[in-house]
Amino acid sequence: MRRGWSTLVAARVFPARQGMVIETDSEKVQESRKSILELLLSDHPNACMTCQATGDCELQELAYRHRVKPDAYPGERHRHPVDSDPNPYLHIDMNKCVLCRRCIRACHDVQGADIWTKVGRGFEQRISTAFELPLQDAGCEFCGHCADFCPVDAIGFRAGRYEVRAWELRKGTTICLQCPMGCGAVYDTHKGKVVTVHGDFEAPANTGALCKVGRFNYNFVNTPHRLQSAFVRGPSGEQAPAPMHAALDLAAAKLAEIVEKHGGSAVGIVAGGMLTNEEYYLLQKLARGALRSNNVDNVAGPWQLPLYEGLSSALGWGA
Ligand code: SF4
Ligand code: SF4
Ligand code: SF4
Repeated sequence: MRRGWSTLVAARVFPARQGMVIETDSEKVQESRKSILELLLSDHPNACMTCQATGDCELQELAYRHRVKPDAYPGERHRHPVDSDPNPYLHIDMNKCVLCRRCIRACHDVQGADIWTKVGRGFEQRISTAFELPLQDAGCEFCGHCADFCPVDAIGFRAGRYEVRAWELRKGTTICLQCPMGCGAVYDTHKGKVVTVHGDFEAPANTGALCKVGRFNYNFVNTPHRLQSAFVRGPSGEQAPAPMHAALDLAAAKLAEIVEKHGGSAVGIVAGGMLTNEEYYLLQKLARGALRSNNVDNVAGPWQLPLYEGLSSALGWGA
C-alpha cells in the first residue's frame, strides 16, 4: 500500500511502481483479512473435524492464524449437493468453495480445457461446468490440476478419503513411471502404499502438471502381486527367488556366452513401457555397444504409442 493511501488495494490487481512503499502485514491489513475470512466462514460448512482437507487447508490455516470467529456473521448458507458428480477421481463439494477461481485458472492456464466457470450473481454465484454437465460430459480430461490448486476441500481427490489424514501422509518426489517424458511427481504414501499423486512444481519437465495417467494410474504400485525380488531358473526349470545382483551377474554371463558363440544378432532387448528416456538410451547403448546387436525394441501401452513412435524413430529402434 502506498504511504498515506486511504484504502487498501489488492496486490494482484495493482502493479508495483518505482518508489512505492508497500505494507503487506500492517494492523489495518490484518483487520481486513480477518473480516474477509469471517465473511467467508459465514457461508461455510466449518466441518473441519470430518473434512478431508483438515491439516492441509489454506482457509483453516488462515482462520487459525487470524483468530477468526466462525459465527461472526450468521446468515443464509448454501445447500449444494455433495459428491453428486459420478466421476471416479474427483470429489466435489461446492459448499466449501471460497470462489477464489484457482480451479478455473488451473484448468484454463495449465490444461487448456476450460471446464470450470463462474455462474450466477451475488449469493447465487458458484463454480460450475457449462450447463451444469457432469465433468465427464463437459469434456474434463481428469488431469486433476483443479484439485491440486483448490485451497479447500471443494474439489478434492477421492483416493484416501475418510481413510487417511493429511498429517499421516509421507511425501516423496520421484519421476513419473508412466511414459518416458520424465515428469516430476510427488507421491503421498501411507503404510507403504501410494494414496495420491501430485505434480512436482520444481520439476523442469512439467512444472507441476501431470496427465490423467500419471495422476491416477498408480494402483499397480500397490498391488500385492508385484514381484518382490528377482527369480532365477534352476537346472530342472523351476524358478527360485534370488538377490538382484546374483540374477544380474547370471544374466550378464549368459548373454556374454551367447554373443561369444553366435554373435550379437542372436540376442535382443525388449524394454518395458515404463522406463525413462535416459533408461531407454542406456538400454540401446547396452545393446549396440556391449552386445553388438541392433535387436532392440520396447512395449508400450496404447496411451503411450504416440510418444514411443517419436522416441523409437529418434533412437533408431526396431531397425
Ligand atoms: S475446507 Fe477447510 S475450513 Fe472448510 S471444513 Fe474443510 S478443513 Fe475446514
Ligand atoms: S481435472 Fe483437469 S480438465 Fe478436468 S476440470 Fe480439473 S483441471 Fe480441468
Ligand atoms: S479452487 Fe476450489 S475454492 Fe477456489 S473457486 Fe475453485 S472450487 Fe472454489
